[in-house]
Amino acid sequence: MKKRQVVVKKSSSNRTSSVTVRYGECLKNHAANIGGYAVDGCREFMASGAEGTAAAVACAACGCHRSFHRREVNEVVYEGSSTSDA
Ligand SMILES: [Zn+2]
Repeated sequence: MKKRQVVVKKSSSNRTSSVTVRYGECLKNHAANIGGYAVDGCREFMASGAEGTAAAVACAACGCHRSFHRREVNEVVYEGSSTSDA
């Protein structure tokens, strides 16, 4: 038996959402100059430096710019006032 949870949306102003962005596998084509297609196999972007610096957008694993990595956007919506749920 599978239960489905139904979230009833009310028109409340307590609704907040937070968007988290993570960067997945590297999609840079390293063989583009020879007319082929080969990626470096990097599975997930890891910043090589602190946020705000140039190193923050360079992958520590493969060295490519962050924009070569697949972008995943997750939006989490919080409803109501159950924020003190410990
Ligand atoms: Zn790469």
